[in-house]
Amino acid sequence: SEKLLEVKNLRTEFHTDKGKLVAVNDVSFYVGKEEIVGLVGESGSGKSVTSLSVLRLLPEQGNISAGEVLLEGKDLLKMNKKDIRNIRGGDIAMIFQDPMSSLNPVLRVGEQIMECTKLHLKYNNSQARKHAIDMIKRVGIPVPEDVMNRYPHQLSGGMSQRIMIAMAMSCNPKVLIADEPTTALDVTIQAQVMELMLELKEKNKIGILLITHDLGVVAEMCNRVMVMYCGRIVEMADVFSLFKNPLHPYTKGLIASVPKIGKNADVLPYIAGRVPDLSQMPKGCKFAPRCSEAMEKCYKEEPKLTNIDGNRQCRCHLIRERSEINE
Ligand code: SF4
Ligand code: MG
Repeated sequence: SEKLLEVKNLRTEFHTDKGKLVAVNDVSFYVGKEEIVGLVGESGSGKSVTSLSVLRLLPEQGNISAGEVLLEGKDLLKMNKKDIRNIRGGDIAMIFQDPMSSLNPVLRVGEQIMECTKLHLKYNNSQARKHAIDMIKRVGIPVPEDVMNRYPHQLSGGMSQRIMIAMAMSCNPKVLIADEPTTALDVTIQAQVMELMLELKEKNKIGILLITHDLGVVAEMCNRVMVMYCGRIVEMADVFSLFKNPLHPYTKGLIASVPKIGKNADVLPYIAGRVPDLSQMPKGCKFAPRCSEAMEKCYKEEPKLTNIDGNRQCRCHLIRERSEINE
């Protein structure tokens, strides 16, 4: 499909008292029109840093040292601060786990949504008001006029999540970046928010980058999936192939850790150990200390991300060897 957002060879570093740490290492991907691309991995794998890099919202110690972030071909990393601010909340919208971090506590909900369209779409007051009411209706809130007059603290968790989505969608973005958008919600509201995102994808033809640690959400929502570990993409595939035939031992472990429906829900995670500290990265394959299939080579040499069948990628020595034998 048509590429809306394209990230090429992104590298993000943090300057800390432990020295320079690489949080995102040579990451490349794209999000197409009318497509939801999942970015999965445990916490600490670099998912959120990737999304913050794309939006240029890194904290002060963070710095993008290489790569390109292209929105319809224009490099966001080369834009000045004013232009990037116009893109955020305009062509690229974002929603986060905590709606309160994106809502202004001292502004009424209606005013916040209206401010956004006045700024980005140059709406006048009555156009902005009409549009805000429309958007609030579309996220499934039956009496928008009432909610318009409330302050964020007067909303329930599910309601504020919907308002954040209404706000994000009000400027007709081309790309939506959603970082754990349903994690803090209860199951019913989670399902409603996911439903809403699917509808927006289809009706508005937007591309969505969905960051989550929840493979159940990925299975329901995504077209393609990237799996991240230690700041690297370790596997990329369409959602069907990934679940049917995961190639990377880390992906296999993640899938095995998803509690199966109908079985006891407290199945223990299949992957022992934890994501290594960025300051103490193993030398070869970053997953080797946790990998049940690790070989001697894995501790010495880092595997490269390898193309498989033309439409998948995997970073593992087992895969390279397999494809070399096949050749
Ligand atoms: Fe496991 Fe080796 Fe593959 Fe790394 S390269 S995932 S350690 S088999
Ligand atoms: Mg995160």
